[in-house]
Amino acid sequence: MPDAGTLFLVATPIGNLGDVTRRAAETLRDVAFVVCEDTRRSKVLLAHLGLSRPTMSLPAFDESARVGPILDRVAAGEDCAVVTDAGTPGISDPGERLVAEAVARGLKVVPVPGPVAFAAALSASGLPAGRFHFLGFLPRAGVDRKAVLEEVRPLRATLALYESPRRLAETLGDLKEALGDRRACVARELTKVHEELVRGTLGELEARYRGAEVLGELVVLVEGRTGEARWTEDEVRRALAEGLARGEKLKPLSTELAERAGWTGKDVYRLGLAEKA
Ligand code: SAM
Repeated sequence: MPDAGTLFLVATPIGNLGDVTRRAAETLRDVAFVVCEDTRRSKVLLAHLGLSRPTMSLPAFDESARVGPILDRVAAGEDCAVVTDAGTPGISDPGERLVAEAVARGLKVVPVPGPVAFAAALSASGLPAGRFHFLGFLPRAGVDRKAVLEEVRPLRATLALYESPRRLAETLGDLKEALGDRRACVARELTKVHEELVRGTLGELEARYRGAEVLGELVVLVEGRTGEARWTEDEVRRALAEGLARGEKLKPLSTELAERAGWTGKDVYRLGLAEKA
């Protein structure tokens, strides 16, 4: 029985082919076969590197079914490189299950690091980058989306998420409602000709993108909670009473106070209903 091969996770450019690393190119050249999210897309990269390699596909919708045959080949001694359409495999992309199963089978897994969209966006955003929380794509459905946002609301860590340009304005609105009008950054078309990083509060960014035609790929970054220590219930009640006396609407008032108080919006709202009654 020959020694088992190695599974290499190879990061590839997120737009600019100049970002492919020398080690990525050498790994793709040296392995027995390349597993691609989409073989047609990856063949463009391989051609750019002057390579013609045997490929297998690993589409996101069918990852589980493909894992076995790929790992059987690695277990039999072949080295394999995994690439996705862009960036780092397994990051909101196929690769996660393949790696988990490879680890479970005791196979050697080696990362070949390189581009990843959220890290590029975070590094240039101007927001705190020491602590961050990556959310991938938010759930689209209202209830699930709200639950995730409630969960991350108290975190003192910059939030990074992927979004489609079609849903950008709506998502910025949801983020503002759930988290308060925090500082944020939309990083669009990173490493490409039309790259732009737009910074502002969530409200300012929502206003900018609402009704606008937004093209390309983007990352949204939102500053983590910056409020001071959690307010007591009495303090929240007092602020609610003052806000309501000024004629403010309960929902936006709750969102704003929750941010400052370190509470969830739901809990402040509930207290506000009692206060109104
Ligand atoms: N595996 C990739 C990575 O390492 O970043 C992410 C793949 S995920 C399917 C694709 C999403 O990543 C896009 O919808 C967008 O949110 C983000 N993305 C990818 N390339 C980007 C770019 N050049 N600029 C901004 N965001 C990008």
